[in-house]
Amino acid sequence: MRIPFVAGNWKMNTTVTEAEQLIFEMLEKLDRIEGVEKVLCPPFVSLVAVNMMLRGSSIKLGAQNMYFETAGAYTGEISPLMLRELCEFVILGHSERRWYFGETDEIVNKKVKVALTNKLKPILCVGERLAENEAGKTEEVVNRQVTAALNGAEPVSNLVVAYEPVWAIGTGKAASGEQAAATIQFIRDVLAKLWNKSIAQNLRILYGGSVTRANIAEFISHPEIDGALVGGASLKAEEFASIVEQTAEIKGRIK
Ligand code: PEP
Repeated sequence: MRIPFVAGNWKMNTTVTEAEQLIFEMLEKLDRIEGVEKVLCPPFVSLVAVNMMLRGSSIKLGAQNMYFETAGAYTGEISPLMLRELCEFVILGHSERRWYFGETDEIVNKKVKVALTNKLKPILCVGERLAENEAGKTEEVVNRQVTAALNGAEPVSNLVVAYEPVWAIGTGKAASGEQAAATIQFIRDVLAKLWNKSIAQNLRILYGGSVTRANIAEFISHPEIDGALVGGASLKAEEFASIVEQTAEIKGRIK
């Protein structure tokens, strides 16, 4: 049985003060929702403050990125050793990292392996760009990204995969539930071939891309889709709580 999973990616938004305010606004409501693993991923500089505010709650913490070395002369980078004192999860391979900061499949692979060795749970993002989607290359792209990212990694159950079509991120143009469910089933089949069927069956695979309180039900009602990685809508306390609440309610019903 896969526990539904909803993560909020705050991206490069919120100062420390604003992050504290946002946590203050959503903490009580989110904390009370049962049956969903809830993860917030604020910017690095807010991790310490948010970690303190979340202590004793049911909400977990994640980072948005990480370097693939553990220490050394890498000015400006953040290591898994720094993160693991503060959080349980780390988003890796987000399309904004791949396309704005030149992260290749090889870099994502190094990061995934280092995260796992250092007991951080990766939320591995994969997804095709608009032209690739229009050319019918979605499966080819996600197959390549998943296979490359996990190359040489021991099969583990503490990995979460997020299918995030690049054309749906921050655009207000979400994929349809059917499209997302089909690609997520395809990713599960890739994982079964790469690792094994029982691990693939147990891994959570999320949809991400313009998820809101108005469309979450469309995704979450598909048994293949285990939850959501939410960007913009995770910056609004009421809206994010509603996304998590609907996930708990719908997944609870189709269990
Ligand atoms: C994301 O940042 O992973 C994301 C899915 O963003 P948005 O929900 O804003 O499309």
